[in-house]
Amino acid sequence: MTGRSTQPVASLYVHVPFCAHKCEYCAFYSETPSGELVNRYVASLIREMQLVANDLNPRTVFFGGGTPSLLNLRQWEQILKAMERLDLLGAAEWTVECNPATVSLDKARLLRAGGVNRISMGVQSLNEELLDRLGRVHSREMVFKSFAVLRQAGFDNVNIDLMFAIPGQSMEIWRETLTEALALGSEHLSCYEVIYEEDTPLYAQLQAGQFNLDEDLACAMYDEMLESAAKGGFRQYEIANFARHLSGTGVEIPDRACQHNVNYWRGGSFYGLGPGATSYVRGARTKNWANTVFYCEQLEQGRRAIESRERLAPLARAGETAAFGLRMNAGWPFEEFQGATGYDLRQEWPAEMNQLASQGWAKIEAERFRLTRQGLRFADAAAEQFLRS
Ligand code: SF4
Repeated sequence: MTGRSTQPVASLYVHVPFCAHKCEYCAFYSETPSGELVNRYVASLIREMQLVANDLNPRTVFFGGGTPSLLNLRQWEQILKAMERLDLLGAAEWTVECNPATVSLDKARLLRAGGVNRISMGVQSLNEELLDRLGRVHSREMVFKSFAVLRQAGFDNVNIDLMFAIPGQSMEIWRETLTEALALGSEHLSCYEVIYEEDTPLYAQLQAGQFNLDEDLACAMYDEMLESAAKGGFRQYEIANFARHLSGTGVEIPDRACQHNVNYWRGGSFYGLGPGATSYVRGARTKNWANTVFYCEQLEQGRRAIESRERLAPLARAGETAAFGLRMNAGWPFEEFQGATGYDLRQEWPAEMNQLASQGWAKIEAERFRLTRQGLRFADAAAEQFLRS
């Protein structure tokens, strides 16, 4: 059971903090790479893996960033060999995020042979002007080529990331992107509304009045996405995530859902390695320093580069777990929530549940509590009600 088990941790996230160019909207920790620093990072990452390997038996692995596909063949080989030596291979689901500009057949084949079985491709838009506007390094052509390369290398589980409510994006452009993206036939789709994070060029442009936000258009685009994804054979299982379901009936979560992210939303433990990565292990949250050189220095001296540690009180932790899990269409089955946190949702949060249900944002069913379509649109506000200090 989450948080109280002494079983090894079953989920591993690795942050690769390099990008060829910084996108206009991005607040993730990443920097443009120099060959020397990337090599040093790979050696340090392997050291960090060694420090936690005894407490890891990964069922899901996710290499995110940053741009993991920027690592070259030799660097990937080093990582794969180290993971084999440390007995970290064999995950049921292993995802690597790729930028369409950095996918080659050689690299795709190496990853597939090494055990990677899922690729998440950051597409964002299939409109050239918007790709430029976002500062993406890839063209629309590269998306189609890379997708074909991934299929050729044997990947039968591919996610495509898209963005909507981009400044300058009309409903017509959004529809075109959705139609073309769905025609690719991926197994998974993630669609996020642009967010304006401080310290990003896009935020500065917004502050300077270079464009206006149109909340009605953003809502209409979200609805369009729900309709198109459903017509394209996808099932929504989280606010922004859609997956195909290939076999079996009567299940709430489609079988091509990202199992790694489902573990996050269900409040499961995970190790996060690499600069800026967060871990959550048996109720304790730690965060690594978001500075690659400092991260490497710490690992070279034989210790993890942990900047902060926090242990939440059990009820606060349960509240967070409730909030995360409600992002999913399946909501929280009462029994599963109790198994994961030790608390009964109905006893600890009855007023909040009733209020959300009475305003049409949630449904209280015999065995679970879940948000409605309208509630999912405002999931952050709904989930906040469950947080406890
Ligand atoms: S590729 Fe991804 S991580 Fe890198 S700058 Fe762009 S959005 Fe951020």
